[in-house]
Amino acid sequence: MTRRSLVVGNWKMNGSRAANAALLQGLLEAYPYPGDVAVCAPFPYLQEVAVTLANSAIRWGAQDCSAQEKGAFTGEVSAGMLAEFGCRYAIVGHSERRTLHGESDQLVADKAKAALAKGITPIVCVGETLAQREQGETEAVVKRQLSAVIHALGHCAGEMVVAYEPVWAIGTGLTATPEQAQAVHALLRAQWRAATPRADDMPILYGGSVKPDNARALFGQPDIDGGLIGGASLQVADFVAICRAAT
Ligand code: PEP
Repeated sequence: MTRRSLVVGNWKMNGSRAANAALLQGLLEAYPYPGDVAVCAPFPYLQEVAVTLANSAIRWGAQDCSAQEKGAFTGEVSAGMLAEFGCRYAIVGHSERRTLHGESDQLVADKAKAALAKGITPIVCVGETLAQREQGETEAVVKRQLSAVIHALGHCAGEMVVAYEPVWAIGTGLTATPEQAQAVHALLRAQWRAATPRADDMPILYGGSVKPDNARALFGQPDIDGGLIGGASLQVADFVAICRAAT
């Protein structure tokens, strides 16, 4: 098993040039971290983020990318455009995009494929709603979401990152217990293993109200390789503490 831990900040639609500069400065000053660290910023800030992080080991990514290569898709940003700037990651299938923008499993899979085709590692988000969990559907939902991606990617499947983000835990202050999260991560790992011999190299991140005080217990689980962090990634001290909790 060769996978390293990874903590990714998802800034969502937050930030400003001044706030980003201060946040990145704080992250750079706190370097080194025990594992890999990345930030996913809104599109207009990506180039500035890239320049600021250019001589550091902190990586950066986008929060989405188009499934299309180019053409009449107003408002979309292609993976090829992101790759021109050296983009390392693209989050695809975040629950906010699945819910607020109606993204289907197939579209998410197509986005993951488009990212990989340009050398960008997709961070594929999967997760169940509270109603689905209460109806005992967690396993079926996350497996369905991941299988769409496995099917689309075929032999490239080992190049990606999966983030298990229970929808009921995102931005709510509710967190899956380490045991609840580990149970789903183990399922996803097993599903992945059946599709590719590289499953043990693939980081599976947990996301959903990760904070400095719960990060260590979550990241200590055998199949939790780090986190996708929303709100807490906007606070330097909190994000640094979470990055340091990943081993
Ligand atoms: C997210 O947006 O991916 C996320 C996990 O948000 P939060 O950490 O705020 O719950």
